[in-house]
Amino acid sequence: MTAKIIDGKEIAARVRAEVKRDADAFAKKHGRAPGLDVVLVGEDPASQVYVRNKEKASLECGMRGTVHRLPADTQQAVLVALVQKLSADDTVDGILVQLPLPGRLDSAQVIAAIDPGKDVDGLHPVNAGALASGNSGLRPCTPSGCMRMLEEIGYDLNGKKAVVIGRSNLVGKPIALMLLEKNATVTIAHSRTADLPAVVRDADVVIAAVGKSRMVKADWIKPGAVVIDVGINRGADGKLSGDVDFDEVSRVASHLTPVPGGVGAMTIAMLLRNAVDAAMTRAS
Ligand code: NDP
Repeated sequence: MTAKIIDGKEIAARVRAEVKRDADAFAKKHGRAPGLDVVLVGEDPASQVYVRNKEKASLECGMRGTVHRLPADTQQAVLVALVQKLSADDTVDGILVQLPLPGRLDSAQVIAAIDPGKDVDGLHPVNAGALASGNSGLRPCTPSGCMRMLEEIGYDLNGKKAVVIGRSNLVGKPIALMLLEKNATVTIAHSRTADLPAVVRDADVVIAAVGKSRMVKADWIKPGAVVIDVGINRGADGKLSGDVDFDEVSRVASHLTPVPGGVGAMTIAMLLRNAVDAAMTRAS
């Protein structure tokens, strides 16, 4: 079997076109573009690239994108005050604090200061709680991107066995809840899971969100399974790889996402989707 490659770039382009249409309609109706404000503390090179990409993508989609850059030695109180100010500003629809924060800054306290209606990363306890209890709210972008990819290939999760490898608040836990919402039978695996290959081999759908290059091998995969690779790992040669051994697994899976050009391409598109949704919800 040769897996069909799920093209994240192509699906993301479709999402962005939908976002642009909605952002333009919002601007026409309200006399201003929806606004996404990103807060970046410090000079972590990867974070700087992510933030620049978010700013560029917002502008391309007809939104206002503003980056607030703060020095690495910023005090907790100053950062919280900025987030509170953005939360109170009516022209700000989405707020994203780029993680990880440097030094001893407490990200939980900063996230808690975001107005939940503007929390486009879906990390505020109100939004995490809404997802856990099956209510509407803003949802984390990467898991939403994975769900959109499954939707695009017309995959029916009803009654399927899904295994999520990874249990972070950003990816593993929310994607597990979203799969459950679509009636999959979900197992969450992590670093203490016994006999991980056997657990994964049972799955119709595998979501790998670990951060270990090419960890998931072909003999872990049930023939015909759908495999979504969230991992982004940078090798010594600077090249990106996923958590799944792409060459091997593509011979066993029915569908597989590449790295790069898979889930990573979806994340920013879903962030823009969240920002426009936040703007439309606040204005309604
Ligand atoms: P975290 O480091 O927060 O979580 C990693 C998870 O993997 C943990 O739950 C950990 O288990 C588990 N884990 C670690 N080692 C093993 C192992 N050997 N076997 C099984 N499970 C293991 O990472 P994130 O969830 O934030 O991100 C995961 C990956 O996804 C990273 O590569 C990251 O770069 C990427 N990512 C990609 C995005 C995209 O846009 N495509 C967006 C966000 C992340 P335990 O809890 O027991 O420690």
